Amino acid sequence: MTFIPSYIKLYESGELKERAEKALEILKACTSCPRDCKVDRFNNEYGFCLSGYLPIVSSYTPHFGEEPVLSGTRGAGNIFFGNCNLRCIYCQNYEISQNWKVERKHEVTHERLAEIMLRLQEIGCHNIGLVSPTHFSATILKSIYIAASKGLRLPIIYNTNGYDSVEVLKLYEGIVDIYLPDFKYGNDEYAKKYSCVDNYFEKTKAAIKEMFRQVGDELKYNGDVVVRGLIIRHLVLPNYLAETEKVFKFIAEELSPNVHISLMSQYYPTNKAHKEILLNRTLRQSEYEKALELLDKYGLHNGWIQEMESYNNYRPHFSYDRENPFLN
Ligand code: SF4
Repeated sequence: MTFIPSYIKLYESGELKERAEKALEILKACTSCPRDCKVDRFNNEYGFCLSGYLPIVSSYTPHFGEEPVLSGTRGAGNIFFGNCNLRCIYCQNYEISQNWKVERKHEVTHERLAEIMLRLQEIGCHNIGLVSPTHFSATILKSIYIAASKGLRLPIIYNTNGYDSVEVLKLYEGIVDIYLPDFKYGNDEYAKKYSCVDNYFEKTKAAIKEMFRQVGDELKYNGDVVVRGLIIRHLVLPNYLAETEKVFKFIAEELSPNVHISLMSQYYPTNKAHKEILLNRTLRQSEYEKALELLDKYGLHNGWIQEMESYNNYRPHFSYDRENPFLN
């Protein structure tokens, strides 16, 4: 089957260009994420994320550690953006996502970011994975437009921490094919303490509702690889700090029990987590089993689970069976 990503239609109608231009306006008083710093990033004023007009790309590569339906056999074409808008003290990716510096050497032009997308397509990746794109969401659209004009035909994954602006997400409707948000906490107090963010639960619920409105609860496949849909990631934290039950209750009752969940056990105390007594260890079997029980309790029957020993491995290791997704 020949897959045509949704943004091609918008490119051909001229709407993709219009959306890209409209998105750039948001940078003039930045509300790209719910922190609403309202600084003029168009003129390189810096808000909480210390990011200016151009995107900062820390790395790009075919990535084989995503869920199997995203990595496939040729890898997800991941582009990792620097200067994340959250500051998780346990960030498993902190070397490339938490490099907040007002330095320009990793900034790339819109044209260069488009070239990177085309290069990932050329080497055979299944998709373009925008990793931690939120704070550059208003600027990435221009690169997608340029890349589409030069032949980009891969589905786009929006792989986010979930703390996104609904206003910006609306501009991505029909452009993002696969939403891949984290839902980190069902508790604002822990979100504030461990990720330095206000109102995470409410803001993330609103963002994920918008993603769900756009793509629904069904996953669409091209062969064995997903090309459209929503997958919500949830990393189980020690001492129940993620408040998993509230997250699952929201998904089941306010979205749909058919939403696909990627349940992650890979937590290990990295970055600054060793300084925090409640986070200074890996997950216990009993803590993870509790999360598995909650999947059952709320009837969340689609998705993937990691095996417990995954914390030894930076890259996730998922059990996967398309007919019976939670079967090990
Ligand atoms: S993207 Fe950065 S500057 Fe804009 S609102 Fe968020 S933290 Fe502030």
